Amino acid sequence: MAAIDSLPPLRQVISDNGLTARKSLGQNFLLDLNLTAKIARQAGDLSQCDVLEIGPGPGGLTRGLLAEGARRVLAVEKDARCLPALEAVKAAYPGRLEILNGDALELDVASRLAPPVRVVANLPYNIGTEILVRWLTPGKWPPFWTSLTLMFQKEVAQRIVAQPGSKSYGRLAILAQWRADVRIVMSLPPEAFTPPPKVHSSVVNLTALAKPRYPANPELLSRVVASAFGQRRKMLRSSLRALAPDIEDRLLSAGISPTDRAEQVPLEAFCALSRTFEE
Ligand code: SAM
Repeated sequence: MAAIDSLPPLRQVISDNGLTARKSLGQNFLLDLNLTAKIARQAGDLSQCDVLEIGPGPGGLTRGLLAEGARRVLAVEKDARCLPALEAVKAAYPGRLEILNGDALELDVASRLAPPVRVVANLPYNIGTEILVRWLTPGKWPPFWTSLTLMFQKEVAQRIVAQPGSKSYGRLAILAQWRADVRIVMSLPPEAFTPPPKVHSSVVNLTALAKPRYPANPELLSRVVASAFGQRRKMLRSSLRALAPDIEDRLLSAGISPTDRAEQVPLEAFCALSRTFEE
């Protein structure tokens, strides 16, 4: 296949810069630039967008994003060993790449981006869920991003897109689907990465809705859902009893049978139940 740019192959970049993968930083690198360009394409047209990438590492996905035409990429990398490799990418794409050395969980990146913003990342597995939950629970909605295109362990991806009745259905599915359209767009085997992780991976696309899918107060919804799934094997009339003495009436008014378990209840009904706590 044709090279996507004139920079050296990633295997060479890694050996030239001594980038031995560190497990503590969730470093499983993608070395196939045609694959990283394909991941970049899953995020849609990037030519009018700022792209936030968390964890560029040696720059494989960064190069994919730039080669696919991203207007500008802000890449946040914790591992200072990766900076020389990223500086070389910056030089090859003048004025289009900004590199920030630091912890993505601690830096305020939204203020450095101009809308519309798409987030595209092969996330380190150890911070993936935490950072996704932060992006889905900002102080105000809509958030700073219009879409998230993120690599997760397959099991986490399945929890994001899960439907009622499935074992994966829980707090993450409700949180994500309440505020975004979600879809698994790619699946990758362990061998796609260097070193290969133990598990399969999937890329999930989340597109922010202009407003949440059903009316609900975020704190109340979160409290109801946390209580319901905290004891997911129990019937809701008992797992939610601590929330209100009249919980059975509230469940019935939200169209939920008090003998149902959390994993049977659709998002819309959880929102209706949370609204009974609004007064
Ligand atoms: N994007 C590269 C690729 O696809 O080959 C590397 C992906 S690797 C799974 C995750 C990257 O995130 C590593 O480069 C790691 O150093 C970086 N990283 C880990 N924790 C981070 C954090 N808290 N903030 C920013 N980057 C982090």
